[in-house]
Amino acid sequence: KVALDNIRKSYGDHVVLDDVTLHVQQGEVISIIGPSGAGKSTFLRCTNLLEMPDAGRIRVGDHEIDTSQRIGDKQLERLRRTTGMVFQSFNLFPHKTALENVSLGQRRVLGRSKEEADERSRQLIDRVGLSDKYDAYPGRLSGGQQQRIAIARALAMDPEVMLFDEPTSALDPEVGLEVLAVMQELAESGMTMMVVTHEIEFARNVGDRLIVMADGGILEEGDPTEVITNPKKERTQKFLRAVV
Ligand code: ATP
Ligand code: MG
Repeated sequence: KVALDNIRKSYGDHVVLDDVTLHVQQGEVISIIGPSGAGKSTFLRCTNLLEMPDAGRIRVGDHEIDTSQRIGDKQLERLRRTTGMVFQSFNLFPHKTALENVSLGQRRVLGRSKEEADERSRQLIDRVGLSDKYDAYPGRLSGGQQQRIAIARALAMDPEVMLFDEPTSALDPEVGLEVLAVMQELAESGMTMMVVTHEIEFARNVGDRLIVMADGGILEEGDPTEVITNPKKERTQKFLRAVV
């Protein structure tokens, strides 16, 4: 479903991603953990080309890009559209309602009519458990509610894969749980997901595979419970001791 091959990224002479390869199956949920500065966010941002890798190939569904070639805007647009991204900060438009926030991209990017977009938005807002908040402005929503609207907004573009970059780290724990519950439901519905997280329980209970990143590479990977309870690398043991 998603194939990232030999991804490299440097900022100046600082190598942030050193030849990273990861293949994700249809419906697979990948959790990515690792110390600060490991390159986790950069890796996700390279997956949807928010960040342009220096080298490597990216395939999402039928869309493929060789980043060492010149890439046209159309091609870039198309690949980006196949991925939905949810960040630590929700970045909703403050002067638009929840419904408008979810409908906007559908109308601008997918060319859906207002009726069509609003209909789909209501379905997705219901799905994230906020059917009483269609007309609420972000300022009147809790952080967890805003994040759930941000998830609905990303889903509205019918992505082939959902990318999450620490979606709960800016939230109070109990509010974070509501967001994790939505993500779990999404995972169970068969969505392909790549999730950078500090939530070891989520990685263990929901994730199909756990990736440990450090120093711009994949340190180890495997079955989440296996990696958590029986890490092979000293570096992983150290990191897990600090977070579990
Ligand atoms: P964290 O857990 O703190 O979010 P991370 O694993 O997501 O860390 P990245 O944000 O991917 O790490 O950053 C990896 C390295 O790349 C860091 O050393 C960071 O300082 C550097 N870096 C990231 N973005 C840039 C940039 N735009 N310019 C220069 N250096 C950058
Ligand atoms: Mg990060």
